[in-house]
Amino acid sequence: MKEHYVIALDLGGTKIRVALVSRDGKMLGSTRHLSSPVYGLSYVLRTMEMSIQNILDKTGVGLDNIKCISMAIAGINDVKKGIVTTAPNLPGWHNVHLSRIISEKYKLPAYLINDATAAAVGEHRMGAGRGYENLVYLTVSTGIGGGIVIGNLPYLGKDGAAGELGHMKVVANGPRCNCGKDGCLESLSSGSAMKRMAIDAIEKGRSTLIKSFCNDDINALTAETIAAAARKDDDLANEIISQAAYYLGIGISNLINIFNPDIIVIGGGLSKMGNVFLGPAKEVAKKTAFKLPASTVKIVKSKLGDNAGIMGAALYAFDIK
Ligand SMILES: [Zn+2]
Repeated sequence: MKEHYVIALDLGGTKIRVALVSRDGKMLGSTRHLSSPVYGLSYVLRTMEMSIQNILDKTGVGLDNIKCISMAIAGINDVKKGIVTTAPNLPGWHNVHLSRIISEKYKLPAYLINDATAAAVGEHRMGAGRGYENLVYLTVSTGIGGGIVIGNLPYLGKDGAAGELGHMKVVANGPRCNCGKDGCLESLSSGSAMKRMAIDAIEKGRSTLIKSFCNDDINALTAETIAAAARKDDDLANEIISQAAYYLGIGISNLINIFNPDIIVIGGGLSKMGNVFLGPAKEVAKKTAFKLPASTVKIVKSKLGDNAGIMGAALYAFDIK
């Protein structure tokens, strides 16, 4: 019998990644294209189709060797119907019947899953969470996303909207979040939150190395700029990182109390800051949460990194009967 693959696709606000993945988690080739969602839905769809063609050409695998197409989407998806309900980072994507569009094009089954939930599945099956039954995954980058695995299965919720961990409230009447509400974890601990804190302080006249790391263009500053300044022991950068880490710790302590998970896996660009960010967050989480679950939970960095979503999307789809 021929070996079968899933075409796994990870669609985010910045990139589209595609890979072929086998049932035992081997990745065959991968491609990466800019998603450029500002050009609209049909542009993104064309780029997705081009990426799929690209991976088939590159690997020499034919569609007769493909079991299905599984798409990890940065948005809220109706997983059962295969509809992207809403996707804040993909402007114009409302109630898009993506599974049907892709399935009709390729004459193959097509499935959707939230990208962070897919990453949770990936880490659970092949990454840092291998062998653990209950896992919570947090991705901390420009925004904060999450995915939940309970009893070895992804928890999707009634509408497929579960796991929006970045939007748990950690400060009543706190800063405005990208979702339109106030005081969410994302508004306090994400890359965009750190950027806002840096710009506010600079506009108030605070002197900082952060400015020189972005050539005095404050709009160009990122969490990475702030991390670079922190490595030079810049006071403002240190303050911002420690405040963001504090609230991340509060968020994690809530997850510990709610889920009593075996393991919490932290991925996303900001996790690459390592201990300067994650160390204090872990400390706050362990101090704030209930003693027993705080003493048993493991809090670790993602092992699969950027591949977690693609891997999880594929392995999730292999399990669909
Ligand atoms: Zn929010």
